[in-house]
Amino acid sequence: MIVELISTGSELLLGDTVNTNVSWLAQELNKLGYTIAHQSVVGDNPKRMAEVFQLASTRADIVISTGGLGPTQGDITRNVLADSIGRPIVFNQEAMDEVKKFFDRVKRTVPDASRREAELPEGANVLHNPVGVAPGVVVEDGDTTYILLPGPPGEMKGMFHDSVVPYLMNRFGSQGVVTSYRYGVYDIREIDLENTLMDLIKNQSNPTIALLIKKGYIEVRITAKADTLEAAHEVLNPWDAIIRERLGARVGRDLTVSMEETLGHVLLEEQSTISTAESCTSGLVGKLLTNVSGSSEYYMGGVISYSNDIKHRVLGVPQDMLDTYGAVS
Ligand code: ATP
Repeated sequence: MIVELISTGSELLLGDTVNTNVSWLAQELNKLGYTIAHQSVVGDNPKRMAEVFQLASTRADIVISTGGLGPTQGDITRNVLADSIGRPIVFNQEAMDEVKKFFDRVKRTVPDASRREAELPEGANVLHNPVGVAPGVVVEDGDTTYILLPGPPGEMKGMFHDSVVPYLMNRFGSQGVVTSYRYGVYDIREIDLENTLMDLIKNQSNPTIALLIKKGYIEVRITAKADTLEAAHEVLNPWDAIIRERLGARVGRDLTVSMEETLGHVLLEEQSTISTAESCTSGLVGKLLTNVSGSSEYYMGGVISYSNDIKHRVLGVPQDMLDTYGAVS
């Protein structure tokens, strides 16, 4: 099933807003086995937006857009889609009920402008917005399904999980799973690594293999698609064994697990606890450690000791040591 992603909003073209929606959606859809063939970014210009929607319909089964569903005159995605598939815009009572529910929740009357959010292409289905006002929109037209999602990332993500995934499952069935093993490989030049894995690189189809240059290491990523996660692991495991055998100790940590998660596993296994005393990092290390769910099992707490006084009084660093060497030594 081929998907095309369209991000709308001039702020994306100006670079003011980083297009995080598209990378998040691509990751989520890939996990579900959908193939993203193209991604486009287009400003809030009706003609250019219509061109992008029309082109997408010629090469994708499912077109997913984000942005431009709000109540203002600049929010034109619904109208652009209606025009480009030749349907009228009509008042949609179900969408209006969704809008009304939101304003009831926040104990306000529905502003006139929000009526726009219930004017959808004829025949559209409505997706509940668990966070904001604008309902999402699904329109099936010929062989193409269009899914319009709001721009704010929190609204888009909530709607994707709550409504889009069940809709896709129901409409298109399971597309299998796509999963990757990712290794950091150290102490080897890219060209030598490529030569070492050349037969895999040349014969790849499922799994596929990619080498990605990172700071201080090369990421090797092998990716498989299969009906189930277990079956995908069975596809990956023989390649995993080959890579480990050929690269030996150069294969470093598993990049699918963060360093702080790895540390968490070790601490739990050893039944150890950890605390932090931070200066310049001002709590960043503690923040990383506590990003891991379940970290309260082993993380006791931390002290942010910016001043020498706190370093001395709270953390017990001897005053003469601070006087002789300074705090940054
Ligand atoms: P609203 O109800 O806020 O009008 P909307 O669906 O019209 O929602 P936009 O106005 O297009 O959405 O975008 C709202 C905000 O969402 C933007 O100002 C931006 O901060 C964020 N946003 C939009 N698109 C993206 C994106 N692709 N990646 C990250 N953030 C985005």
